[in-house]
Amino acid sequence: LTHHHRVFYQDHFHAGGKVPLGLKTKGLRIVVTGGAGFVGSHLVDRLIARGDSVIVVDNFFTGQKENVMHHFRNPRFELIRHDVVEPLLLEVDQIYHLACPASPVHYKFNPVKTIISFLKITNVVGTLNMLGLAKRVGARFLLTSTSVRSCYDEGKRTAETLTMDYHRGAGVEARIARIFNTYGPRMCIDDGRVVSNFVAQALRKEPLTVYGDGQQTRSFQYVSDLVEGLMRLMEGEHVGPFNLGNPGEFTMIELAQVVQETIDPNAKIEFKPNTEDDPHKRKPDITKAKDLLGWEPKVSLRQGLPLMVSDFRQRIFGDQKEGSA
Ligand code: NAD
Ligand code: UDP
Ligand code: UDP
Repeated sequence: LTHHHRVFYQDHFHAGGKVPLGLKTKGLRIVVTGGAGFVGSHLVDRLIARGDSVIVVDNFFTGQKENVMHHFRNPRFELIRHDVVEPLLLEVDQIYHLACPASPVHYKFNPVKTIISFLKITNVVGTLNMLGLAKRVGARFLLTSTSVRSCYDEGKRTAETLTMDYHRGAGVEARIARIFNTYGPRMCIDDGRVVSNFVAQALRKEPLTVYGDGQQTRSFQYVSDLVEGLMRLMEGEHVGPFNLGNPGEFTMIELAQVVQETIDPNAKIEFKPNTEDDPHKRKPDITKAKDLLGWEPKVSLRQGLPLMVSDFRQRIFGDQKEGSA
């Protein structure tokens, strides 16, 4: 049997034949592309806990097996190594499309090449394939778009446009989330984002690198809040786009101070030159998500950061040294 047949066969068996989509609230068949990544793996945890069958599709560009390994023995979980740029045949009810080469380090090293090769191809062809899949099987499709990085916005904008085209033209049930800076356990340690940098630096007794004068602001959302927002968006009746982020705003100096309080009051701060195009301020307006999805973030930075720190401590120092840093 091909994979596609196997999944179909299994689901038929479990459901005792075709069940009309609208009648099912639990036990859905769900694909999460990029499900071995930071956000995706937390989403998978929630879906599995809810009773759904989850297929993770990931090429491990930045994701890792370790993030979903705890589900390997669960018969409702499947992991496929696959690049979404290639067509994919599955029978599913919902598609959470998170796959994207999202790490800013890759952009800063070679932005031009990156735009052409990774962004266009993954965001355009990858999104097109997942929309084609959604159209063929009548699945609901959720795109994780962004508010964020300059050379990375372009690919996401195209992906949003494609999503709306398939929604209007082919009747695909579409959902669009625009995600703001998110942190938490399983974040890539060395991907260059500010929260992961500061936490790793403080744990390793290195100075916290503040770019520019550190007066630029960001709003940091804990990953469980984002996952709740994504699931409400998928289950709700509105296409969006919805901003999903935590409006609590911090300068990079303030963030460094929270990291000092949480990990090491003696951690030093080192100022480094910033890039010219760095946005001075970013804070989501989440009125629409509040009104239409009944969603708002619950976890403050001071509550969420310690949860991320224990995960980073374990990954950086290993089990035997846990608690010694
Ligand atoms: P991540 O890098 O941890 O996850 C992305 C996953 O996609 C990885 O597991 C990677 O291996 C996989 N992937 C990349 N290219 C692929 C391909 N061609 N085929 C199959 N899999 C592929 O990043 P994340 O932070 O979890 O981001 C998840 C989504 O949320 C992304 O679409 C990202 O653009 C979006 N987003 C995240 C943030 C944030 O702050 N974390 C902000 C804005 C938007
Ligand atoms: N596609 C896919 N899985 C499917 C259905 C489609 O990967 O189950 C891909 C297909 O290979 C194509 C893209 O999605 O590249 C768009 O499909 P669609 O049917 O919308 O367009 P067409 O194939 O008619 O150009
Ligand atoms: N930044 C910093 N030190 C670092 C990494 C980033 O001061 O080690 C700053 C960066 O200049 C930006 C902010 O932190 O102003 C957020 O950067 P990140 O790459 O995490 O997210 P984005 O800029 O995409 O919002």
